[in-house]
Amino acid sequence: MELTSTQELAQRLVRIKSITPNDNGCQELLSKLLSEAGFTCITLEDQGTRNLLALHGRGKPFSLCLGHTDVVPEGDLSQWEHDPYSGDIVEIDGKACLFGRGSTDMKSGVAAMAMALYGFLKSHPRHVGTIGLLVTSNEEGDAKGGTPFCAEYLKSHGLIPDYCLIAEPSSEEVFGDEIKNGRRGDCNVTVTVHGKQGHVAVPSSCDNAAHHAARLVCAMLDNPIDQGSEFFPPTSFQVSNCHCGTGADNIVPGSFTMRCNFRYNDLENYATLAQHFEGIARMIGVKCDFKWQPEGLPYLNKGGKLLDVMKECVTRVTGIVPKFATTGGTSDGRFIAPLGAQVMEFGPVIKSMHCANEHVELKCVEELRQIYELALSMLQSN
Ligand SMILES: [Zn+2]
Repeated sequence: MELTSTQELAQRLVRIKSITPNDNGCQELLSKLLSEAGFTCITLEDQGTRNLLALHGRGKPFSLCLGHTDVVPEGDLSQWEHDPYSGDIVEIDGKACLFGRGSTDMKSGVAAMAMALYGFLKSHPRHVGTIGLLVTSNEEGDAKGGTPFCAEYLKSHGLIPDYCLIAEPSSEEVFGDEIKNGRRGDCNVTVTVHGKQGHVAVPSSCDNAAHHAARLVCAMLDNPIDQGSEFFPPTSFQVSNCHCGTGADNIVPGSFTMRCNFRYNDLENYATLAQHFEGIARMIGVKCDFKWQPEGLPYLNKGGKLLDVMKECVTRVTGIVPKFATTGGTSDGRFIAPLGAQVMEFGPVIKSMHCANEHVELKCVEELRQIYELALSMLQSN
């Protein structure tokens, strides 16, 4: 089947094995395409992370398309029906799809944004304001040297985006049904619960740390920190990892370590999370240490030109009126929002991202390009 230039670019990107934080040549491909179109492309490198910034025009309004070229590892290969980096076109549920790791998250989005910028510039060579693409190769990892570094660069060069468009997967059931107008914050904590080691046959001489940890988890589940806010769901608490025991069947563990994650809404911050968790531990008399590791702040776009424009463009191209939501994982939009930009995310259906047999419907890839190109023309008009 004949592919459009956007679908072909997405396929070429999927065929590059760019496991985080190794870009492995994806950005070179994008840089070549956009330089030829007239963009000024620079590579920003820090701590082994490669980022590409492509800009055209000057002044305001400044619309920045944000994305990433890195992907998560493929995991268990035996679960994949085709090579994860084949970029094969396969029929899934009766629809022609681009198959492979990164096809949904987010190489089709990157291809759509790059081709939208390309197309917009071809048809509006004398556009007002600035348009650009910023892609990092460390979004799926720890972000070191990635978007936070680039945000500092933009700030120090007076390049403050008015609008930040992110083609991350955002649709829930069908393409076009959801735009993310914010994301929850993310925070991890390591909790070490203390007890006293001893013989399982002599309970009076020991104090089981695993039992105390169980009480603590139950108390956390029974006492949620909030009920959600106007724009966000309730803050979630999840235990992600546990370590306990010596391997022997006759020893009561003296300590229990667990790693917990909070995805929190705009009612909370690191301090309120800590106050809540540590307060509950104190209240039920569980002795433990907490090591907090904040990951990202929540952000929220309550409304404005960007959301109005995107809602109209998605409706026009897909025939579906999207709703706004703040659910799901976080994104690098959290590093751009503090610069003062309106941020939103719109992209493919989320279902297969990070899964084995990741795929994206080809039709959506092309429609995504149309939506972004239309949005650029509306945002850059006076
Ligand atoms: Zn992503």
